[in-house]
Amino acid sequence: MKSYFRPITRRKFIKSGIAGGAIIATYPVWKLFSFSTPPSDFYVNPACNLSKETLEKLIEIALQKGGEFAEVYVEYNVGNQIYLEEDKIYGAGRGVDMGVGIRVLHGEKTGYAYSDDLSFERLKQTAEVASHIASEKTAKEHTGLKSSQIPSYYLVKVSPDNIIPQDKAKLLWKANSVGREYDKRINQVNIGFSDTNKKIIIANSEGTWVEDVQTISRLLVSINAIEGDKRSRGYAYKDGTLGYEHYDLKVAEELAKDAGRMALAMLPAEDAPAGEYPIVMAKGHCGTFFHEAIGHSLESDGIRKKTSCFWDKEGKMIASPISSLADDGTVPGARGTINVDDEGVPGQKTILINKGKCVNFIYDRLNAKLMKARLTGNGRRESYQHYPLPRMTNTYLMAGEDDPDDILKSVQKGIYIARIGGGNVSWVTGRFVFSVPEGYLIEDGQITKPLKGIQLMGSGPEVLKNIVMVGPDMEILGGGTCGKSGQGKPVSDGNPTLKVSKITIGGAKV
Ligand SMILES: [Zn+2]
Repeated sequence: MKSYFRPITRRKFIKSGIAGGAIIATYPVWKLFSFSTPPSDFYVNPACNLSKETLEKLIEIALQKGGEFAEVYVEYNVGNQIYLEEDKIYGAGRGVDMGVGIRVLHGEKTGYAYSDDLSFERLKQTAEVASHIASEKTAKEHTGLKSSQIPSYYLVKVSPDNIIPQDKAKLLWKANSVGREYDKRINQVNIGFSDTNKKIIIANSEGTWVEDVQTISRLLVSINAIEGDKRSRGYAYKDGTLGYEHYDLKVAEELAKDAGRMALAMLPAEDAPAGEYPIVMAKGHCGTFFHEAIGHSLESDGIRKKTSCFWDKEGKMIASPISSLADDGTVPGARGTINVDDEGVPGQKTILINKGKCVNFIYDRLNAKLMKARLTGNGRRESYQHYPLPRMTNTYLMAGEDDPDDILKSVQKGIYIARIGGGNVSWVTGRFVFSVPEGYLIEDGQITKPLKGIQLMGSGPEVLKNIVMVGPDMEILGGGTCGKSGQGKPVSDGNPTLKVSKITIGGAKV
């Protein structure tokens, strides 16, 4: 049994919540395993179906020292990966994990303990360990559990967990052959398919008792091209809370072509100029900017600790009047979509910035309680081994009214960001540096030469004020695994076509 007592003081909790910058992993990390066949049906045979009576008993034990709130989080998770490199299936893997995390809140303190042994005796000990965060004379009463039905925003008919690796491999082989035949300058094609299938049960002392099955799948194609001493890379992926019915040979072909197109488009790229330029962001592919440079600074832990650059900005203008930002856990099929968060609160849409004004923050239960705010369905944790933090779901700049063609035509000389890459952001100051894997020069309102080595530099709050045009064409195409305090969580992001009047480009050419 693994069971750890982790009392978290307010100070340490917030410190761990906001420490460091943000990283979005663009690519899944593959692990090597051997082939195996799927187990008995995930939906009907989770080993962790704790009864209502057991859950209520555990909550009662967790509250025995007088803690104000107790919660039981049960998880059964099956993950599959398969990938192809150098013309062969390089690896395929399957991992099953399950466990129970029990949390007790008392004032600003959190008691958290977890166990991967689901016998009642062990779970009872786990609840006892978590209960020790409080030391009151009388135990807190709890409300009996009431089962609740929640709407579903996932687009899953066929669980990818029920598809054998050999069938998934057909998608990989198709993308591999299309990618390699796309152009003779293509010298490397890597493809991966991954899916996670998680069943969670959340029960708490306020009577919440919900269950959710969360499936996330992804097909990723990465292509390298080479010509003389020039090298380039392209990639494309499809992902989301999607069932296997969303993938077929046609999808694999389209992704391979799109990755090939990007690799070849960037092959003749010239060094980007350095200096201050207007930029146009392409719809859909630049949402990571808003997630990283703005969204993290609107998470309630940093607001409460006053370490975020937006801590005192509620009700104030922080962006140009045409800019609105939302976090929305209910976008059908998107990667960050959740029917419920990991605290049992239904997924919802929260407007964070409304026409330039900061109107709300991203809350988990602890911070909402301490800040006397309404829950927003953003309490998320990586697994039963982690306590929840305020985390984004699908974050996007909302649609505006400017014509995308007019946006491009309005730029005499500037930079077109077709896709934004990884970034480094300080949530304290909002300062960022982003790489741009696909970018072009704009001359006289037209996209001309491909550019390499573009680095966007500046601060989130500054960029928000310089958004001068926003198109109506919002799309959510970005997505990855957001890292915060050592916890990875699937998220997605999006944006319409937009123009920022000036931004510093760190390029190779002065
Ligand atoms: Zn992030």
